Amino acid sequence: MTATGSMFGLAFGDCVGKPTEFQRFEEIVRLYGPAGPKDLSQGGYVTDDTQMALAVAEALLDQPEGTDLAVEPLTGSLIEHFLAWAISPDNNRAPGMTCLRACGHLGNGLPWPEASQRGSKGCGANMRVTPIGLLPHVPDTTVAGAAQLQAALTHGHATALAASDLTAFATRWLLRGMAPSDLLPALRERCQEQRRVYHGDWLGDDLWRVPLRDSPEEFIEHGWVECGMVLGVLAKAAENPDPALDPCDYTGEGWIAEEALATALLCFLMYPDEPVRALGRAAATGGDSDSIAALAGAFVGARHGIEAFPSDWPERIEYRDRLARAGGVWDAGWERAA
Ligand SMILES: [Mg+2]
Repeated sequence: MTATGSMFGLAFGDCVGKPTEFQRFEEIVRLYGPAGPKDLSQGGYVTDDTQMALAVAEALLDQPEGTDLAVEPLTGSLIEHFLAWAISPDNNRAPGMTCLRACGHLGNGLPWPEASQRGSKGCGANMRVTPIGLLPHVPDTTVAGAAQLQAALTHGHATALAASDLTAFATRWLLRGMAPSDLLPALRERCQEQRRVYHGDWLGDDLWRVPLRDSPEEFIEHGWVECGMVLGVLAKAAENPDPALDPCDYTGEGWIAEEALATALLCFLMYPDEPVRALGRAAATGGDSDSIAALAGAFVGARHGIEAFPSDWPERIEYRDRLARAGGVWDAGWERAA
């Protein structure tokens, strides 16, 4: 159970799922067999998922170590790292339009609530959020607020916020040793508990003002309800999923945040102790394969650590130094806290 395992797991999943993102399920099965790809793709290259997760991770590393996060400096750092990603020559890995549009507005100096794409709940919101779940020394309310804030900078939809919160907590709970069988009930319970909690100290008093919502509570409730619904579908699917079927047939294609979470969780829950099989399953999907596999990798890596993956993968993956740095700092923090 390590932060390093989760950071690398995310990149491994992203890399395994990179070639299959825009392939149909039947095509993937024809090329790789029903279990999907079993190795990193050519060159160890990852996509925007890992690049943006590193942006979030490095914004966190910019904050003073061993203390709670503060809203203003973290917001500034996240925007800085997102903009650096947006203009980087390496930003050529099929990035999401919502992220590009919002970063365009942020780069032009718009305040983030105006730059945010409020109608979007694309999985760009939560594919990059798992580093927040790995942070030692912060209370749960900070994890929630920061997870939702990093989503809101680009994806302002309530469901993007709730799904990002759940994705961060799934990672955190697995890192802290929660049994996979307890994970889904805990996430569903969180949907109930948090249903009307709007983190105004993190999100401000403007984001919630959208048509048909009369209060911050009413705004965020819609997001938690949508997440609760897909987790309900997942609970049924996870009872006895057919390994020959496309996981997206059960819980959705994952282009939107709550489906990316649910389908990644399904793949993880099918093979919670077999990291390579979990990633293969997640990459063999008709939907947003790299994001689904990245999240499944972050979950299985948080649970098992980097040693559970093939021994040559860490040295073959792109950005290995940056992944190792973030994971190393946080693992040391968890050790000190223990
Ligand atoms: Mg991608």
